[in-house]
Amino acid sequence: MIAAARPSRGAEVVIVGGGVEGTAAAWSLTQRGVRDVLVLERETVGSGGTGKSSGIVRCHYGVPSLAAMAWQGLRLFEAAADVLGEDIGFRQTGYLVAVGAPNVAALHANLSAQQALGIETTAISREDAAELWPSANLADFAGFGYERRGGYGDAYRTAQAFAAAARRGGATIRQGTAAVSVLRQRGRVTGVRLADGDVVPAGLVVVAAGPWSPGLVAPLVGKQPADTHVWILGGEAPAFVKSEGPLYVGGPIWRIELASPIWPKASTTVANGQRDADKTTSAGTKPKP
Ligand SMILES: Cc1cc2nc3c(=O)[nH]c(=O)nc-3n(C[C@H](O)[C@H](O)[C@H](O)COP(=O)(O)OP(=O)(O)OC[C@H]3O[C@@H](n4cnc5c(N)ncnc54)[C@H](O)[C@@H]3O)c2cc1C
Repeated sequence: MIAAARPSRGAEVVIVGGGVEGTAAAWSLTQRGVRDVLVLERETVGSGGTGKSSGIVRCHYGVPSLAAMAWQGLRLFEAAADVLGEDIGFRQTGYLVAVGAPNVAALHANLSAQQALGIETTAISREDAAELWPSANLADFAGFGYERRGGYGDAYRTAQAFAAAARRGGATIRQGTAAVSVLRQRGRVTGVRLADGDVVPAGLVVVAAGPWSPGLVAPLVGKQPADTHVWILGGEAPAFVKSEGPLYVGGPIWRIELASPIWPKASTTVANGQRDADKTTSAGTKPKP
């Protein structure tokens, strides 16, 4: 049974989830003058998928909107020491992708799409690939792509750095604090309820709970939404945004798009990120629906 609601200090923006996306969103908001930001993390910052990430940093994605987001994010990785004030472990080793004969055409299509976005990926020869990675057995591969500015980073440190920078900007990060539901009154998102029954009022709720986001958003829309990483909930009327433009210029961005035709019934402004209607795989082939 849910305990009676007790008021808790609210915020202009409440972000659920202290992974790299939630902390990046918090930092981005403070950068843009929104300082009344509260991040609720049920465990510790970076304890979710972020802390388990292999940390590969690349723009070589087969979905153009993802590639565009990564391209924006790459600039931040490259400038992290200046922008976030610390080393986040980014090492620009380059990123090599190799495919077998059936995927060569798809690889080249992906490279063309990335190049059209300004991304510095290019097709390279087998000899070039062998030079980059002399110990690799490349015999089974027929096509190669290279991204000079790719590399690897430390996602956990990145989230910690975003969190620290967000705190410096005025944000509050409450760890060990789980949200159990997003609250709505008369069609308007008003805050979140915590596991202990407290209610945290919010002008806007960002659900950045990684794979747990759909569970938090589902009650608002009446069904389990598709796997989606970041949700922005607020407002009174359905004002669906579909845009490829950056949400926060200069920082990590999310593609904002209409999530599904069922949204108008929810009477809630909803935007989501890291989702794309085009489910093209990284090899460029479309899976069967
Ligand atoms: C094994 C592995 C390898 C990966 N390798 C790569 C890679 O090489 N390159 C790459 O770009 N990506 C990689 N990823 C993906 C990348 O790690 C994720 O996309 C990214 O970390 C997601 O960040 P997030 O903030 O959305 O989610 P998370 O890091 O999962 O953060 C969500 C946070 O929300 C919290 N939370 C959940 N529910 C609640 C709640 N109800 N209330 C409060 N808090 C809540 C969780 O505790 C968690 O800390 C990898 C992922 C894994 C698992």
